[in-house]
Amino acid sequence: MSDARTYDAVVVGAGVFGAWTAYNLARQGSRVFLADAFGAANSRASSAGESRIIRMSYGGDEIYTRWSMRSLDLWRQFCEETGARLFHRTGVLWLTRDTDPMALATLATFAKVGVPHRKLSHDEISRRFPMIASQDSECAIYEPESGALMARRAVQTVVDEFQKYGGTYQIAEVEAPGGRGRASAVTTWSGESLRADAYIFACGPWLPKIFPALLGQRIFPSRQEIYFFGVPPGDRSYSLGNFPTWLDVGSLMYGIPDIEGRGFKVASDAHGPAVDPNTLERVAGETLPLVRDYVRRRFPGLRDAPVIESRVCQYENTSNGDFLIDRHPDFENVWLVGGGSGHGFKHGPALGEYVARLVLEGGKTDPRFSLASKQTVQKRSVY
Ligand SMILES: Cc1cc2nc3c(=O)[nH]c(=O)nc-3n(C[C@H](O)[C@H](O)[C@H](O)COP(=O)(O)OP(=O)(O)OC[C@H]3O[C@@H](n4cnc5c(N)ncnc54)[C@H](O)[C@@H]3O)c2cc1C
Repeated sequence: MSDARTYDAVVVGAGVFGAWTAYNLARQGSRVFLADAFGAANSRASSAGESRIIRMSYGGDEIYTRWSMRSLDLWRQFCEETGARLFHRTGVLWLTRDTDPMALATLATFAKVGVPHRKLSHDEISRRFPMIASQDSECAIYEPESGALMARRAVQTVVDEFQKYGGTYQIAEVEAPGGRGRASAVTTWSGESLRADAYIFACGPWLPKIFPALLGQRIFPSRQEIYFFGVPPGDRSYSLGNFPTWLDVGSLMYGIPDIEGRGFKVASDAHGPAVDPNTLERVAGETLPLVRDYVRRRFPGLRDAPVIESRVCQYENTSNGDFLIDRHPDFENVWLVGGGSGHGFKHGPALGEYVARLVLEGGKTDPRFSLASKQTVQKRSVY
């Protein structure tokens, strides 16, 4: 006789990937146990923090443009159903150049799949957004429907809704299954046994720690910093409603307008040093000189703006930036879901739908998401 608790699926990790996977499974009637070692969108998780960009531009990577479009529909639908204000349609502005191959490929993809957008000349950027110092040689692609997601709150709301569909959510650290073939149970750190038909490990930057032999050199968590600059008193021009979410292709900087008074968000997308998400000391400062210099040049009105908040987070990079969604090669019923890198958050809803379908209906993952497509990653430091 076994005292294990029995489910259709155990989802390990309540970040944006695990939360949406568990929610989709529960919504379709599965009995699901969702475990997180530190809690949904906890401060160590890649899904933590205030906000994330949702944009459609992915150059010629049509699959991600389509997933973004699908996800935006699902995020909106979720907001309507729950009444939660988790998405802000700020518009997204890509600052780029006419000759940039990524911009040209993005425009071709937008035309093909029907993403609403406008191309802005340097003069138009200056007229519409006079707070941005843009150069003559620059242009922009503007996505009016895209914007910002309230990250931590969104994940926690998905987990709340998951429980309303009958899902069980618990703070628990789950260990990797042993043996091979068909995993019969997994065990929590406190010794509880959980039995299920399928086990989905959506553990973001922890995946290489949980499966070191398999993923230790395939997923590389990198240290990333985020800064929130205080806008001038009484000045709404850098805030929601007046300023777009933006990305600057040339400098690898990106940001989100001041939402809920948290400040004007600016960060560098350049990959930082390799980190361990458990032990990383989260005190920002390494990229501050770079970011401050950029803010002074790009947004002269924020020249003297103080940093009013900062965060240290981690990307979980794969060799090609593609997600990992595949079966564990040693287990027919264990799924690995991660590799969100610096762009996974927005895709949570479409990814959750995709993983739930794979788990419930079987089938093969897209080759781009397969384990086989992931090269081993050189640990490196950019800044
Ligand atoms: C600074 C920064 C900026 C970003 N900006 C954007 C953006 O603008 N737009 C965008 O789309 N994406 C963005 N991303 C990427 C996006 O946030 C991530 O791809 C996404 O959040 C990854 O989610 P996840 O669920 O895979 O991982 P996580 O959110 O890290 O979730 C994994 C969870 O697993 C839990 N866990 C780990 N091990 C165990 C265990 N053994 N047992 C139980 N639980 C366990 C952890 O506690 C954690 O909660 C950004 C990321 C960062 C860090």
